[in-house]
Amino acid sequence: MKNTNYETVVGMEIHVELSTATKMFCRCPFPTLQDQPNTLTCPICLGLPGALPFPNKQAIESCIQIGLALNCKINKDSFFERKNYFYPDLSKGFQISQYLHPFGEKGYLDIKINGVEKRIGITRVHMEEDTGKLTHATVKGREVSLIDFNRSSVPLVEIVTEPDIRSGEEAKLFLTELQKIIRYLGVSDADMEKGHMRLEPNISLRPPGQTTLPKYKVEVKNINSFKFVDKAIQYEEKRHEELLDKGETPIQETRGWNEFKNKTVSQRSKEEAHDYRYFPEPDIPPIKITQDQISEIENKIPELPAEKIKRFAIDYGITEYNAEILTRDLKLAHFFEEAISVGIAYNIVPLTIANYIINKKPNIEELLPATLVKKIKEESTVLQIDNNVLESAIRTVMEKNPQAVADYKSGKVQIIGFLIGQTRQVLPNAKDTEQIRKKLTEMLE
Ligand SMILES: [Zn+2]
Repeated sequence: MKNTNYETVVGMEIHVELSTATKMFCRCPFPTLQDQPNTLTCPICLGLPGALPFPNKQAIESCIQIGLALNCKINKDSFFERKNYFYPDLSKGFQISQYLHPFGEKGYLDIKINGVEKRIGITRVHMEEDTGKLTHATVKGREVSLIDFNRSSVPLVEIVTEPDIRSGEEAKLFLTELQKIIRYLGVSDADMEKGHMRLEPNISLRPPGQTTLPKYKVEVKNINSFKFVDKAIQYEEKRHEELLDKGETPIQETRGWNEFKNKTVSQRSKEEAHDYRYFPEPDIPPIKITQDQISEIENKIPELPAEKIKRFAIDYGITEYNAEILTRDLKLAHFFEEAISVGIAYNIVPLTIANYIINKKPNIEELLPATLVKKIKEESTVLQIDNNVLESAIRTVMEKNPQAVADYKSGKVQIIGFLIGQTRQVLPNAKDTEQIRKKLTEMLE
């Protein structure tokens, strides 16, 4: 429900866990859900006194790749900073992050809304570390909070957008595109169920025509699905509208999304940057990146979704709309291209393969591209039964079954089912019933 008295202003903060082999500032392995809690830790990721962090080069490169893919300017002089706050899942009492000089800033991502292109500004792309994981449970009748430090110091990239998003639907489109890019880059599987991609919309409303930002914003924390982001934004739109209509200003705060109640709930007042007392991380020297290094990282970026869509449309003579469907999932895009190369031997053009995949949605996990092409070949033979062949088959059937023909002509039209069956006995390959029915009706007139 979009209200018209106000314009929605949304900026997104997205956290992406990078799937590196090891953690961000130590060499503990990247944890999986199968690992026993607190087994993948060391003095560095537990933040014990005297432990010295050393940055993960691969993670920094992946962060820069994300920045480049989002058209960011890459800071050649950068450094890590300490973001100080107290929380039980943060044993050090601070998180190593970036504040003044993120690796990437001032970028953008173009998305398509109902066929119209819209640019969403990217404020920054920075590198930080994840925290431990708290689980609230009841053990032997007592309410307890359990903590697992396996996730502590896993490389985390934070992407912050400009407040350019105007609805839940737009947020969903933007996030879908962003997830696709991250998966194409291969830097993370961006699986939200596993917490590898976490979403936080910042929402406020303003009168239409106002260009300055509203004086408040409400952040909804750690949402794990695009659908819930959309719902949370819609819920907040309504809530703010009611308050603004009464002449009140919504409180600047952090809320959480309750997926069971379909609503947001207040958690705490929202911090400002100065609450964190950022200062340069004294244990890690500044990071200097040369133009050559940036170019080298850039050269490793594979073809991204937008380029692939354009290439598919041009090279394979399909619509951009269909090219978009075929590139949504990198695996499907690879499957399509493999099928095309196999299809050449069978004289099957890419357009036929594209249409087949889009319309019939074959399960590509259980199918080889070569098998798919063979299927297309078989089915197209069926569909393209030569008109003359069909006519002569039907003529035979009519001659053999004069009674049925007479019945049909006297009004018993349901007898056509019998004649279709007879025709298919003559032409076992003719599986397109509609084609036979049409021809029969025509010839029985
Ligand atoms: Zn460690």
